[in-house]
Amino acid sequence: MISEQIERRIYTKEATPIEQLARFSEVLGGPTIYIKRDDLLGLTGGGNKTRKLEYLMADALKNGADTIVTCGALQSNHCRLTLAAAVKEGLHCQLVLQEHAHRKFDEQALGNQQIFKLLGAEQLHIVAHDTDLVAQALAVTEQLRREGRKVYFIPVGGSNALGTLGYVRAAKEILAQCKAEGLVFKEVLVGSGSGGTHAGLALGFYEGNAPFSLMGINVSAPNAVQVLKVEQVLQGAAQLLKLTDLPDGLISCEDGYVGEGYTLSTPKMVEAVKLLAQTEGILLDAVYTGKVMAGLIDFVRQGKYKKEDKILFIHTGGAMSLSAFGGEFI
Ligand SMILES: *Cc1c(COP(=O)(O)O)cnc(C)c1O
Repeated sequence: MISEQIERRIYTKEATPIEQLARFSEVLGGPTIYIKRDDLLGLTGGGNKTRKLEYLMADALKNGADTIVTCGALQSNHCRLTLAAAVKEGLHCQLVLQEHAHRKFDEQALGNQQIFKLLGAEQLHIVAHDTDLVAQALAVTEQLRREGRKVYFIPVGGSNALGTLGYVRAAKEILAQCKAEGLVFKEVLVGSGSGGTHAGLALGFYEGNAPFSLMGINVSAPNAVQVLKVEQVLQGAAQLLKLTDLPDGLISCEDGYVGEGYTLSTPKMVEAVKLLAQTEGILLDAVYTGKVMAGLIDFVRQGKYKKEDKILFIHTGGAMSLSAFGGEFI
């Protein structure tokens, strides 16, 4: 497989475990739910961006970069992990962070923002909610280049073709675990944001003839926008891997759990985060995995699955931001 020939750094040595959620499944009274613990991936606090960064940082080093620039929301997990990878590789890192219409920058904020400081981000650039984040991040990149830096720019969420390979690889890891552990899933659920995680899994499961469906639960956009976005990311990764003749319809999304918008709390998200914490001792997050789990819980309650089905939830991380969303869980 060509993906094995593309260089990567290794930030997690072993496969992350797939665990059965016995008590959580029993409380819901439906299928048996399993969890893929990508919250236990390497780098500061783990989470899905670690897999993408294995490829992106290898490329940055190959290109002789001395500085990494990336961008995201004020509480971006992607920015935390990119910074962590830069620290580990001995590179400078500057973050371009966008305010939310409902949430302004606060110097004292906890969560990921506190970690940006602890990890020693070289500079945080705060931009207003109604500006073009990517354009601003590219302007920072250009300015640093004019000053003589060798900058490697990583897009939002690390969701370009190269970053997506991290989740093509994860799909193979899951299929190997299913085989070794005798697990046959009915459906796999994953958060769908900037799209690299969803696209990579879709491509890897297709290539590996996975016997189950994959459902992306949107965290920000309606289906009309999200399906196209993920399909574009998937096409980019497929080109990089020289895969042709892919069928249509590899991407399925559900947009019923976004609520009023990205990062905004919903009652079902709060219920989901509390229920998993109080039955299994596993922390989800308010922005991504809490909404995905809210979707899964609803699917079970609506009778979408049979009692004998096995469902896999991908835990993409994010709990390090919980302290910044504290009020929602009291
Ligand atoms: C970024 C992120 C996602 C979404 O992944 P994408 O590849 O951006 O779609 C899901 N969960 C967490 C915790 C994240 O930080």
